[in-house]
Amino acid sequence: MDTIGPPMPIAIDPEAWVNAVQLAWQSAGYRLTRPRVRVLQVIAGYRAPFSVEQLYADLHQQYPSPGRATVYRTVEQLFHERWVTRIHSGSSDSSYTLSWPGHLHHLICTSCGKVMVFHGCSLENLIVQLAHQTHFVIEDHLLEVYGCCADCQTAVTPENASALSS
Ligand SMILES: [Zn+2]
Ligand SMILES: [Zn+2]
Repeated sequence: MDTIGPPMPIAIDPEAWVNAVQLAWQSAGYRLTRPRVRVLQVIAGYRAPFSVEQLYADLHQQYPSPGRATVYRTVEQLFHERWVTRIHSGSSDSSYTLSWPGHLHHLICTSCGKVMVFHGCSLENLIVQLAHQTHFVIEDHLLEVYGCCADCQTAVTPENASALSS
């Protein structure tokens, strides 16, 4: 088993993400159609979690826009391959955000929607203990961390503007 290091926050570069997905799909023998590439590009442009309906609406502004089925199937495939992940906090809609295959978790700003990912999940030890105590075969786990990002804490709002001037 891997030793667990400290959490390592990383930023996903949108351009690198689009390239990596295309490369993975090409080597898996999937067809890289223009509509599917458009879906990837629009997803990579989001700075906050998005819903599939929002994605479809944004894609629809441009020509040629992919059909609804293509949009849904593409997001579903990206989710299964862990190129995007579902965000559970916040809106009731299923929201998605960029991810990367492998064991990582997300940190979400509740103010601006910015998402960071981190490696080094320290739940591994807990999961081993739980499996041992309960005889569960543990398949997966969810961890989502949310709060206010550094930029939003320093942003000038009407409330902290008056506090700063007094
Ligand atoms: Zn923020
Ligand atoms: Zn984990």
